[in-house]
Amino acid sequence: MTFDLNRLVRPNILRLEPYSSARSEFEGDAEIFLDANENAFGSPAGKRYNRYPDPLQKELKAMLASTNALSPEQIFVGNGSDEAIDLLFRIFCGPGDDEAIVCPPTYGMYKVCADINNVGVREVPLTDHFQLNVGKILASVNDRTKLMFICSPNNPTGNLMRRADIEHLLKSFGGLVVLDEAYIHFAAEPSMTAGLAHFPNLVVLQTFSKAWGMAGLRVGLAYANPEIIALMNAVKPPYNVSGIAQRAVIEALADKDSVADWIRRTLTEREQLVSELKKLSFVKNIYPSDANFILVRTDDARAIYKYLIDQKIVVRDRSSVQLCEGCMRITVGTEDENCRLLESIRHSGITN
Ligand SMILES: *Cc1c(COP(=O)(O)O)cnc(C)c1O
Repeated sequence: MTFDLNRLVRPNILRLEPYSSARSEFEGDAEIFLDANENAFGSPAGKRYNRYPDPLQKELKAMLASTNALSPEQIFVGNGSDEAIDLLFRIFCGPGDDEAIVCPPTYGMYKVCADINNVGVREVPLTDHFQLNVGKILASVNDRTKLMFICSPNNPTGNLMRRADIEHLLKSFGGLVVLDEAYIHFAAEPSMTAGLAHFPNLVVLQTFSKAWGMAGLRVGLAYANPEIIALMNAVKPPYNVSGIAQRAVIEALADKDSVADWIRRTLTEREQLVSELKKLSFVKNIYPSDANFILVRTDDARAIYKYLIDQKIVVRDRSSVQLCEGCMRITVGTEDENCRLLESIRHSGITN
């Protein structure tokens, strides 16, 4: 399948003359900045917050590029990876016209973004083992199919999709394959960013919200070929990532050790949680997880969910999601939190 980006992009976006901000028009050394109507005296919020942030997050991208053996032109930084998902719809899918493929049960934002943008969604459910149904996915492609969303490790099922299937789809589909790797840092397999060199239609999404522990800062990433990234930069709001968030992530990148330690502890705790939950009679199945959560099939997810709320513990009831009947999604917490969860469940009476 040959890849023709210009055929995929909405014509209005191909013609777009992007907004040119003060900070993107002037790059260089100056002493006095009278170009952006900022408050020149200062900021009650702290130093430098009177100034607009770098619209292209160059310092952050340079760091990410060198750790991932990529170029900064292959990196988009967004206000959460949810911003990247929304931008991809707005760049590639004409409202009321184009379509996207989504494979439920999966992350809900793909369909919500499609609905907001009035883009048709072809839902091709995962198999009984929560793998991609490659034959049905390819059979659902038509000439209006612009995007295909694959989440690996998948939320809420926790498993990785088979890499051979992803590669087959990348080779066979002429649109963009958006691979959401929000949980890749917990997985036994490496990221597919190394595949960017071979697949011009691959977009890899990652986030600082999960393993990196910065959900409150809202910083997400898209890795893709430079033409796709240039389009995302042209369509995004000029200052989409705040100065505080950029600075915090740049500083956090120096502390990889803490993150690696939390990941190790999460994985140890995950195994512990699985082995303890397995002993309980109401647990029907615990699905293998490559993420920081587990999907647990029970007799009555609703009842356990409500009981846990009374104990001031919140898990996610997924029982109304297709293929997830009776399931709860439980995030792996700290050692103490997981102990309290298990204690509460053991004393619930539901187990008897
Ligand atoms: C949590 C999550 C995200 C959200 O990422 P943000 O960067 O916080 O917007 C994206 N994809 C999946 C699958 C997630 O579970």
